[in-house]
Amino acid sequence: MKTYIVGNWKMNFTVGEASIYLHKLLRTIRSYRGIEVVIAPSTVALQPLSLQIDRHKLKLAAQNCYYRDFGAYTGEVSVAQLRGLVDYVIIGHSERRYIFRESDKDIREKVAAAIRCGITPILCIGETENERNFGETEDVLKDQLLGGLQNVSEEDLEKVIVAYEPVWAISSTKDAKLASPDDIAKSISLIRKHLEAKFGAKRVENIPVLYGGSVNPSNAGAYLTIPGINGLLIGGASLIAPQFNDIIEVAKRVQE
Ligand code: PEP
Repeated sequence: MKTYIVGNWKMNFTVGEASIYLHKLLRTIRSYRGIEVVIAPSTVALQPLSLQIDRHKLKLAAQNCYYRDFGAYTGEVSVAQLRGLVDYVIIGHSERRYIFRESDKDIREKVAAAIRCGITPILCIGETENERNFGETEDVLKDQLLGGLQNVSEEDLEKVIVAYEPVWAISSTKDAKLASPDDIAKSISLIRKHLEAKFGAKRVENIPVLYGGSVNPSNAGAYLTIPGINGLLIGGASLIAPQFNDIIEVAKRVQE
């Protein structure tokens, strides 16, 4: 399986800055057959960057989408409108769940719409610090995972990527903590266990599961060697070209 290195730029960079930053990335990063590098700029930058990008080096992702194709949905951008611009769409990021109050129902509709439109959904799940302290991690992961995948058929499961992002480890969370490889390994095995129970072990073998939460070039190697992990979702460090590039190089070394 490929290793996925996904940079989520969140609401950073103007369109001009994004273009300059992409130019810098394209100059520095090297393409490796086993590594899929993906960047998720803000929606306004997707169209211009889609013209500028070298798809051998990088693919584009949207940070969100709406599940209806067209219509009276002021302010929304549908997956149908993203077709041709992006290969991936991040769905259910914790900032969407907790700041914008997205429900599991919204998220499952978006996952299904992405699959219908031929765009790979990256379904984000993860417990908050309170949920972790109350021993609710497994229930939360199971609910978010199976809730998000409720409308996905067994055949379509292979079109999905899952990203485990404990909210308490995301660098922008107040008092964020670094997740230990042991913590992450436990959650990844829970995620795979619940996927297998629903879809069968054979189908789940090929489902990429990524980790996200304060990843940087110094810890990327340890995270990438956790069993069951197939890549990283990176926020803060994806905004600093040398760090993002170094993480790609770490991924390459881990693969060798
Ligand atoms: C994220 O918000 O998806 C994320 C992983 O951010 P960071 O890498 O900054 O913790």
